Amino acid sequence: MAATGDAFRRARGRALSAFRHDDEYEWKGPFYFIQGADPQFGLIKAWAVGDTNNGDDEWKEEIKLTEQAVQAVNKLNPKPKFFVLCGDLIHGMPGSQWRKDQERDLKNVLKNTDQNIPLVFVSGNHDIGNAPTRETIDNYCKSWGDDYFSFWVGGVFFLVLNSQLYFDSSKCPELKQAQDVWLNEQLAVAEKHKCKHIIVFQHIPLFLREPDEDHDYFNLEKSVRQEIMEKFHKAGIKAVFSGHYHRNAGGSYRGLEMVVTSAIGCQLGEDTHGLRVVVVTDEKIVHRYYSLDELSSQGMEKELLDMLAKQI
Ligand SMILES: [Zn+2]
Repeated sequence: MAATGDAFRRARGRALSAFRHDDEYEWKGPFYFIQGADPQFGLIKAWAVGDTNNGDDEWKEEIKLTEQAVQAVNKLNPKPKFFVLCGDLIHGMPGSQWRKDQERDLKNVLKNTDQNIPLVFVSGNHDIGNAPTRETIDNYCKSWGDDYFSFWVGGVFFLVLNSQLYFDSSKCPELKQAQDVWLNEQLAVAEKHKCKHIIVFQHIPLFLREPDEDHDYFNLEKSVRQEIMEKFHKAGIKAVFSGHYHRNAGGSYRGLEMVVTSAIGCQLGEDTHGLRVVVVTDEKIVHRYYSLDELSSQGMEKELLDMLAKQI
């Protein structure tokens, strides 16, 4: 089988085979996972030459950074339950010149992830286009698995959403509607099963710092955002983890925490290339962003390890 095949156990049928509901619906004590965002192969060069449309003809740096990320994750002890990549896997937009090569090189790096640590892929605007179509989404799904799906890990319910359908669904309104219907069903399931927590992954943050901040490229349009925040709040969702901003940020809305994680790849602010460690305990979700250097040399800090060690 090709290395880029089901080595990644991609999401199919709106579920992840790595985590079956029957094995995972029960709370078994604290665990953690790793969140990364925006490896975005090609952006560092494109940004440096000032041409984000065509300047993405090299991605050596991103290869190195993502290799470092994979090695850091592989070294962690205990192992994380999974490693989620919150979108913009590559820089080249659908139809652009270097896309295939970027995708191949990213898969070549990611396939070295410890086989016991499932990868969870989230679609970003660069993966399916700012205004996605059925075709761009189909192509993404063939390559990386479903664009939206849910899974259970140790009594916690995780939802992966396609945030482009909230950003601009003008070219595929029926797909937006399908995700909305599915999401409502999922939230009903979550309510019935009395899960410990519900956590969402999506590429574009609902907001960066304040729930009522103005809309721009990096967050969702205000009325759409309001509707989603209220839905998430009512459903008891604890946290939304995103990328897209290439900086760390975050805020909260009525008990719903918005966590914006900087990039593995190109930084657009003062943060370092890094990953977020997320510990899920009985009562709370605790997270900390680590630079790749820090995480690979020292691992996670004692305070987080102690939370994991606590038995129920
Ligand atoms: Zn993005």
